[in-house]
Amino acid sequence: MIGAVDIGGTKIAVGIVNSEGRLLIRLESPTRGGGPYEPVIERIAWMLRTAVDGVGERLHGIGIGSTGPVDPLTGAFGNVNFFPHWEGRNPAEDLERNFGVSAVIENDADAAALGEASWGCGKHKSRLLYVTVGTGIGAGLILDGKIYRGVNHSHPEMGHHVIDASSDTSCTCGSRGCWESLAAGPAMVRWIERNAPADYPYRAELSARRICHLAREGDGWAQRSVERAARYLGLGLANLVTMFVPDVIALGGGVMKSADLFLPAIRTVLADSCRLVPYESTELVLASLGDDANLIGAARAWYHHCASAGGNGAD
Ligand SMILES: [Zn+2]
Repeated sequence: MIGAVDIGGTKIAVGIVNSEGRLLIRLESPTRGGGPYEPVIERIAWMLRTAVDGVGERLHGIGIGSTGPVDPLTGAFGNVNFFPHWEGRNPAEDLERNFGVSAVIENDADAAALGEASWGCGKHKSRLLYVTVGTGIGAGLILDGKIYRGVNHSHPEMGHHVIDASSDTSCTCGSRGCWESLAAGPAMVRWIERNAPADYPYRAELSARRICHLAREGDGWAQRSVERAARYLGLGLANLVTMFVPDVIALGGGVMKSADLFLPAIRTVLADSCRLVPYESTELVLASLGDDANLIGAARAWYHHCASAGGNGAD
């Protein structure tokens, strides 16, 4: 039994995952990342203790997936926008001390990618790229069971590769024209806010989910917003296919719950753009672990670091 913790900008989920990658119990609470670190780590420990009691079995280790940047070797938080007071704090060490088992931390997209590669749609594949599209775009690349890392164990930020250099759309990273600033959920909302007429009736209630719903109902502005995001999603994915030609790309995240609205346009862009690589051999699929991908992936991260018997060896 592995304890799993998923730390996101808005919510923290905690669960217990068994050795087959099945989530046995799940608890959730708001992150409240703007405040101090101590009450949050105490709350995580309490949730984990409650989950362990609920399952009634001994814990072997703890895996944490977190919105980045985190240092997967030391377990410490870097400078994370959502958590201004958490830099240098070390949830892996704190939970290790509290529970008396080893604990590890990974970037959440890397963790979810590991989960998909081992227990999801990437089983028996050598090269898996996991891409999550929600309020931002995150991605993790798994090569032969190992997370691809940059220098100093850094997590490559594929969501921030520039898709449109002429764009005046600012990104949270400080650059302009990044993939996530043009193709993630907030970009869909922003485009309608800027372009639809002042009397557009749904202006006050816009979200990516609502836009997808309106697009299905035939709303023209919502349909154009979806088409635009789909084209940008396709361009970014085409770049990644051209650079990595993976066996499989697993798509997750809130926006991909409406993947059927986006996939036809994405496939058209791939066919138009990836002319020098065998792009037809790259499977484009929906992440199979669904809403639990981050938690199950966090547990898988523990195997990745700590258990040679876990299948893919230690990191
Ligand atoms: Zn950016």
